[in-house]
Amino acid sequence: EFRPPYKFWAKSVRIFSKAHRNIKNFMENNLTKIEKIAQILAKLKEPPFRLRQIKHAIYQKKITDFGQMINLPASLREKLIKEISNLLSLTLLTQTTGSQSVKTLFETLDKAKIESVKMTFNPHTHEAHESICISSQSGCPLGCKFCSTGTMGFQKNLSCDEITDQVLFFRNRDNFQGSISFMGMGEPFMNMDAVFQALQVFTDKEAFGYSPRKINISTVGIIPGIKRLAAEFPQVNLAFSLHSPFNDQRSKLMPVNKTYPLSQVIEALDKYAQKTKRRVFLAYLLLKDINDSLDHAQALVNLIKSQGSISYLYHVNLINFHSGDKNISFDQTSPEKLKEFAKFLTSQKVEYSIRQSFGIEIGAACG
Ligand code: SF4
Repeated sequence: EFRPPYKFWAKSVRIFSKAHRNIKNFMENNLTKIEKIAQILAKLKEPPFRLRQIKHAIYQKKITDFGQMINLPASLREKLIKEISNLLSLTLLTQTTGSQSVKTLFETLDKAKIESVKMTFNPHTHEAHESICISSQSGCPLGCKFCSTGTMGFQKNLSCDEITDQVLFFRNRDNFQGSISFMGMGEPFMNMDAVFQALQVFTDKEAFGYSPRKINISTVGIIPGIKRLAAEFPQVNLAFSLHSPFNDQRSKLMPVNKTYPLSQVIEALDKYAQKTKRRVFLAYLLLKDINDSLDHAQALVNLIKSQGSISYLYHVNLINFHSGDKNISFDQTSPEKLKEFAKFLTSQKVEYSIRQSFGIEIGAACG
């Protein structure tokens, strides 16, 4: 009879329990705070309205401490405190205030750093409104040549809570009700599951209760993400960071173009626009003597017109480049060149806006 030696059994048991622990940790880390609370309540056989009470406390009453949720029985509060020590996944490190923007540096519980920027448009007028640029990753793996975050390398994908708590922070502190843009650190569709979980929390009527139309996602062209957005959140606004209408030049500026070439991304955007009938924003960062020529403007127009009957859905956002980063060698286009580029788009009846630049003085502007 063959009997495996004791050492063999012991090693197998160790490997199995380690794998089990890793899977358990992975599953737990991927649960949002609300999902964790729901699990605890289910285990305690609490009635369904308890979860609604807790969501109401967190998202409407700005309570981030179970101890202060006095409409819950004391015994339940104690149990929740014991199981979940931190309702917030971010700690504020520093804040820098500019004329129309506030840059906030947060630290996650595992010590990764991320930034969010709150901007105020048309302050002191009846058209005043606010927007937050949030991060989906700490650092970024994609290394676009003009981007400060790209030069930092990649630290980690943020969890759903780490994404949504950026907005919760401003909501609790400043009563923030403005729009949300996934345009901070990272490429949202490289962290797809957490970002789609976050979209669910943002639009959940019992949580943030946002209209999807007040949420903007900007991508460098991760095609599976564009497809998933069209299927799951067709009302969320989509922006594509184009920055060059020429495939080869785009690959040099943005290495991700080698994986998702321009023609394939445009095809995916075309399908997105056909399906959703929503506008597609093309972000175009103007870099001096790199992509600001009239040839570029003409190629951009051709690209949009090649979309035929749905070309009217494409809207160009011209963005001024700003960089205080010594590792980045690009310069800003002159105002004359910007004007010339914009004038050409007008002559070709292509819709565009020139994006207001905020946060230059605090190193929080695009670039
Ligand atoms: Fe990453 Fe976006 Fe910067 Fe490119 S532009 S490196 S995708 S953060």
